[in-house]
Amino acid sequence: MNDCIFCKIAKKEIPSHTVYEDKNVYAFLDINPLTKGHTLVIPKKHIVDIFEMSEEDASKIFSVIPKISKILEENLNMIGLNIINNNKPPYQDILHYHLHLIPRYEDDKLIIEGENKNFTQDQLTQLAIKFKEKKL
Ligand code: 5GP
Ligand code: ZN
Repeated sequence: MNDCIFCKIAKKEIPSHTVYEDKNVYAFLDINPLTKGHTLVIPKKHIVDIFEMSEEDASKIFSVIPKISKILEENLNMIGLNIINNNKPPYQDILHYHLHLIPRYEDDKLIIEGENKNFTQDQLTQLAIKFKEKKL
């Protein structure tokens, strides 16, 4: 995809700050970080989102996440790490797959919150039956 900004970043046509790189994966600092060291991890190949990712491509990107997490942990005074991936608009702004690795610090003012919903055991069972029926 020629006009994809993350393809251009992976090909070094647009500058970025490298955290990690190998044959298939590129990790770089987010231009608008939520905390210090906020890193984006992308496949070098253009893949839009998790729904169009093959198991083989998934293994390439997910297998290096522990390594990249340790690079961040060893170089930052972080106390934890959130790993987030937005799929599909309006949650996903850039339509080239990326994982957000967000180091956490005390008083970093980052709030990830929601409201827990109440589902009965029966509703959970019905849902699980549906998943079992649709197993790929
Ligand atoms: P999304 O909302 O798609 O999950 O997140 C897109 C992320 O990409 C945002 O956190 C945004 O700051 C980051 N981003 C957008 N454009 C650029 C860019 O040109 N360079 C870098 N390093 N990050 C970018
Ligand atoms: Zn792309």
